[in-house]
Amino acid sequence: MATLAQADTDDRFQRLAKRAGQGDPLVRIGLEDGESLEIEAAGAFRILDPDSGKDVWHASYDEEIRVVADGAPAGGVERVFRIQVGAFGSAEAARGELERLRTATGAPGVVHHDPDRGNWRVRLGESPTRTGLNALLERLREMGLQALWIAEEAAELVEDVTLRLVDSRWQSRSTGRQRLAVIPGKRGRIRVNGTSYRGIVELRVTAFGTVRAINWIEIERYLLGVVPAELGPEVWPQIEALKAQAVAARTYVWRNKGQFLDEGYDLCATPRCQVYSGADAEHPLSDRAVRETAGQILAWDDRPIIALYTATCGGHTEDGKGVFPEHDEPYLKGVPCRAEEAAMASLRATIAGRSIPKLEDATGKDVTRDWALLAAAGVVSVRPPERLSGSQLREWTRALARLAGLEPAEGLVPEIATLGDAAEMLLADLGWSERAELLIDTPDLPALLRDAEVDPLPEPQRRALAYLASVERLQPFADGKLGAGQVPDGARFLPALAHMGETYRAFGLREATVAGMGANSLRLFQRKNEIRLPFADKPMLFARTSGVPVAVSRLEIWPGDRVRFRTDAAGKIDFLQIDPPVKGASDDRSAAVYSWSVRKTRRQLEATVNRRISVGKIEDIRVVRRGVSGRIVELVVVGSQATETVRGFSIRNILDLREILAVIEIQRDAEGEIEAVVFAGKGWGHGVGLCQVGAYGMAVRGSGYREILTHYYRGAELTKLSSTGP
Ligand SMILES: [Zn+2]
Repeated sequence: MATLAQADTDDRFQRLAKRAGQGDPLVRIGLEDGESLEIEAAGAFRILDPDSGKDVWHASYDEEIRVVADGAPAGGVERVFRIQVGAFGSAEAARGELERLRTATGAPGVVHHDPDRGNWRVRLGESPTRTGLNALLERLREMGLQALWIAEEAAELVEDVTLRLVDSRWQSRSTGRQRLAVIPGKRGRIRVNGTSYRGIVELRVTAFGTVRAINWIEIERYLLGVVPAELGPEVWPQIEALKAQAVAARTYVWRNKGQFLDEGYDLCATPRCQVYSGADAEHPLSDRAVRETAGQILAWDDRPIIALYTATCGGHTEDGKGVFPEHDEPYLKGVPCRAEEAAMASLRATIAGRSIPKLEDATGKDVTRDWALLAAAGVVSVRPPERLSGSQLREWTRALARLAGLEPAEGLVPEIATLGDAAEMLLADLGWSERAELLIDTPDLPALLRDAEVDPLPEPQRRALAYLASVERLQPFADGKLGAGQVPDGARFLPALAHMGETYRAFGLREATVAGMGANSLRLFQRKNEIRLPFADKPMLFARTSGVPVAVSRLEIWPGDRVRFRTDAAGKIDFLQIDPPVKGASDDRSAAVYSWSVRKTRRQLEATVNRRISVGKIEDIRVVRRGVSGRIVELVVVGSQATETVRGFSIRNILDLREILAVIEIQRDAEGEIEAVVFAGKGWGHGVGLCQVGAYGMAVRGSGYREILTHYYRGAELTKLSSTGP
């Protein structure tokens, strides 16, 4: 429990943090806790007793120091969770409220005195898990109680635990203190269990008898370690999206600061709050996003908003109250995660390209795209011959070798009488024979080839064929044979040639995201840079369907499409394919988890469901109500022991799904019992507020961070903090 002495010590920590270069306002982030922590720094660091300001044990440290909670009960302290229902100015008022709620709910409860704030807190319920309180939480909300939150407490009072320091030679010193300050040297960073942090670090004995590290840091610098952890700038390199993320994260701090005051800090560092990965995670692009939005937050009625954000909403966000019954805020309303149709229509355009006849090899494999790529790069010039000759193959391998910076093959051109001759020559010409020798084991040959007609061929040829089969560049005929004894057709080895060239990036293929179309040009994002490239006359265009690129003479391009392309000597696009396949037009469609499907057996489901609600054997699962986005906001689980109604985010927890924007399909056995359930859904997260990948998509379409924020938080106002906060 906090005391007045604790408040004095807090002031001293503030002063130490400021002396170490942290400006106002500060925030305290609860990092890891455990029986011991490892503390280290790039240079020398100091450990102080905050009350006396004196160095503890040594004047400075330049090695790893282990901090141990000394005197903690063996095996740790049991933890319990309770619901905090309110704080009162007198003990009588608190006890009266506790009595009323105990009678109404039948749940146990406690009153705790907080001398620091001079109030009495009422806490109801008792559970070893957070989710074990869900039913009681819902009951209290139905009774009209608001601002409820779940607190973690030690089941027993832990006293006399102090901090001990241990150095690398296992010498140690008991400090007799429960709080210590770790101060870095000039420009140094303190590392806690391997992660480095700006600012200073407090080491503190917790109510559970463990030691926790708490990072005292200036808010703007803390954000440098949050934004890249929440929206990776390498994967989502759009400055405007990162700026929107920075404002949402800053707003979150101001709204939720102090949530863990009982435990001596403001916010946690995990996804329960917002992820904070310290100084190691910092990235120039997210640094810029924090800097360019410095001090800006979103407000409603002059108060920071509840800036919830979600990874991928799956095309439409949800009303706050659908997922979190306590969040009926006017700015948390479900919105489409896409541009208005008219805006989209103005951004998309059709490119006219060359008409390329489909090309198949003798086995029927479509090799049009590989031929086109090789032709654009100048490796092949005409349609491949019916029968492949040694001189033809030599011409191709020499052209490819020159492009790839390899030694072009010289000397005698072998005659090609069989498939094996051609495969062996192809690999030898491009210096890949060693791959076939070293990477293919002899016992693997029959398994890779599966064709007895290959057996009479010399081993180097069988190895060459097996290698091409192992990289999926040798397709058999419909009868399973490879056609080993025949002269192959010229198209048969185009996939292998294209693959070899791509291995060396010989074709100059680049990846980019389409930002928009100009007159006969394309605006593209390559990483964080926007570029504009003209089209060559009649470029070769490929749409992508079911994994196979298909040549098209006209291609409709939408902003946000991911493309692979190459440019000719004049810098004009002469080859372009959409890759990967598109998933509609929503702004978050580029997320890998945009759509998904998962099958769970009844036993798997029962394990996760019964951990939170006791229903016994699951007999039925029914959707009662869906929210504005289609998310399941009310669900009934019928079990052998009970039938329970589950609402909002708890549905995601009990079913253990990525999202509740999902279809439920029940499979039953002959007796009518549930065998398994298939969930097909979209998105990842809770679906409320700003969609992180959607923000990226909006930025690609040209939206600024203000537009992004007002899209996802309708009606919220972007304001600048005064020097003292909101
Ligand atoms: Zn979205």
